[in-house]
Amino acid sequence: MKYSKLTQTYEALSKTSKRLKKIAILAEFLKTLKDEDKEVLYLLLGRAYPAYDERRIGVSEKLAIKAISKATGIETEKVMQEWKTTGDLGGVAEKLISKRKQKSLDSKELTTQKVLENLRKLPEMEGKGSISKKLNIIVELLSSAKPLEAKYIVRTIIGDLRIGIQESTIRDALAEAFFEKSASSKIQEALDRSNDLAKVFEACKTKNLKSLAQFEIEVGKPIKVMLAQKVSTIEEGFKALGKPCAIEYKYDGFRLVIHKKGKEVILFTRRLENVTKQFPEVVENVLKYVKGDSFILDSEAIGYDKKTKKYTPFQAISQRIKRKYGIEKLCKELPVEVHVFDILHYNGKSVVNEPFKKRTAMLKRIIIKKPYKIVPAKQIITSDEKKAKEFYKMALKDNQEGVMMKNLNAKYKPGKRVGYMLKIKPEERDLDLVITGAEYGKGKRKGWFSSFILSCKKGNEYLEVGKVGTGIKEKKEEGLSFEELTERIKPLIIKEEANKVKVKPKIVVAVTYQEIQKSPNYKSGLALRFPRITALRDDKPVSEISTLEEIKREFEKQKN
Ligand code: AMP
Repeated sequence: MKYSKLTQTYEALSKTSKRLKKIAILAEFLKTLKDEDKEVLYLLLGRAYPAYDERRIGVSEKLAIKAISKATGIETEKVMQEWKTTGDLGGVAEKLISKRKQKSLDSKELTTQKVLENLRKLPEMEGKGSISKKLNIIVELLSSAKPLEAKYIVRTIIGDLRIGIQESTIRDALAEAFFEKSASSKIQEALDRSNDLAKVFEACKTKNLKSLAQFEIEVGKPIKVMLAQKVSTIEEGFKALGKPCAIEYKYDGFRLVIHKKGKEVILFTRRLENVTKQFPEVVENVLKYVKGDSFILDSEAIGYDKKTKKYTPFQAISQRIKRKYGIEKLCKELPVEVHVFDILHYNGKSVVNEPFKKRTAMLKRIIIKKPYKIVPAKQIITSDEKKAKEFYKMALKDNQEGVMMKNLNAKYKPGKRVGYMLKIKPEERDLDLVITGAEYGKGKRKGWFSSFILSCKKGNEYLEVGKVGTGIKEKKEEGLSFEELTERIKPLIIKEEANKVKVKPKIVVAVTYQEIQKSPNYKSGLALRFPRITALRDDKPVSEISTLEEIKREFEKQKN
């Protein structure tokens, strides 16, 4: 397919902010797409691969600027200047390519296949000389590109397409193009199981809803996990689920989906990232202590203190997820224990449609319980509210977030937030705090501050009590946004170091949290657990924010 046809669609999509209009534009486009062009669906999301594939195009702005410069013969400083005034590197490429005097002699009309082919070479290049090879691959595309094509090539490689499309928009467009609106949920199920838009498109194109049922989960391919809804009390939980039901600890770790096939174990996070290399001890424990030739398990990995054996909050082990070096040492220093709470596939067969009571019983049969290595999640099955409440109390005492309540007859629905798995956590509390520092974000949040240091007051001093990144929105329309906070913070900067800044204490925010902990990392000696910004408190003078005394009092109350 001609790349220009796709870029015209991108352009039409970017010109409207109305979701229904976007769906209509996409539906028309999808109707004209041939089977052989199915991978164009990845490009619609700014990617070169399906969602289950981790490879990212990942080109820095700096390299993109060099490529634009090389393709147009305009100095990098000039390109940079243009970028600074508009903030849109794609737009800069469009403008500068349109000024280019002549195209290179051997340039051909770009096709989506050629664009995909070049994009796919990018993640593969590593090590010496890879930068200049990457540069050539991008320049090759830009040299053949028309202005509008150059705009979207650049936006794609830097991961900032700006057309306002998500997987769910394409899902609804597929329904509109090939079925009726009501087919959306069936299409979503196929997506949740396959994580491959191109394959689902192919099935939709047959206009036969049954063809969507072919997508089964597969061992080795990441799956979107099932999510829980929230209730406030055990009574509410029983009311929603009926009696008896299963109650489990809600562990404060991170979701880990474990795949095993023969001697191979693969670990995925809930964001479908492959983290096998980061957790060699988990791989070893799975091979040793879980019976079965092949399976997919759903679990929570949680950190514990190697000396006291006490569980630690998630933050303590979060660095293990991203770390690529010194893994052996980190395994010893920050060990994790895996709590398995569900099973999706066993010895060649999907078990997602089996009732939960059968799946949870299976776990107990196949896992050889090894504390501090791998165990089934702590669970009771009861109809007794008193017993359930005691269990909840025990979970909190054991330093966990709360409990999960689960219906015994329910299926496992990948990718769904379901009403038959419920989470219960203690109510959140409020404080008013002032922002005294911030850190620049990465990826989608590049250019904005994305995490904020919060401080309370002690006399005339401001003491740090935590760091927060949640509660703030990416889009302005949705409330307090990163962009707005960034604009407010910029004039208040007192000191800048790498990606961190210290700022004058001026911006007051309302913050909820779940718990206060002792912390040697902060001058106040305390740290908020799970803080979330709920609002700007412009109405509140800094002199009236929460004091260290108040927070200490809350901490004491909580201990009792
Ligand atoms: P939340 O992230 O607040 O929506 O809570 C749901 C998360 O709790 C899941 O995504 C899991 O990562 C985690 N979790 C901890 N323990 C369990 C458990 N026993 N069953 C299910 N999920 C659990």
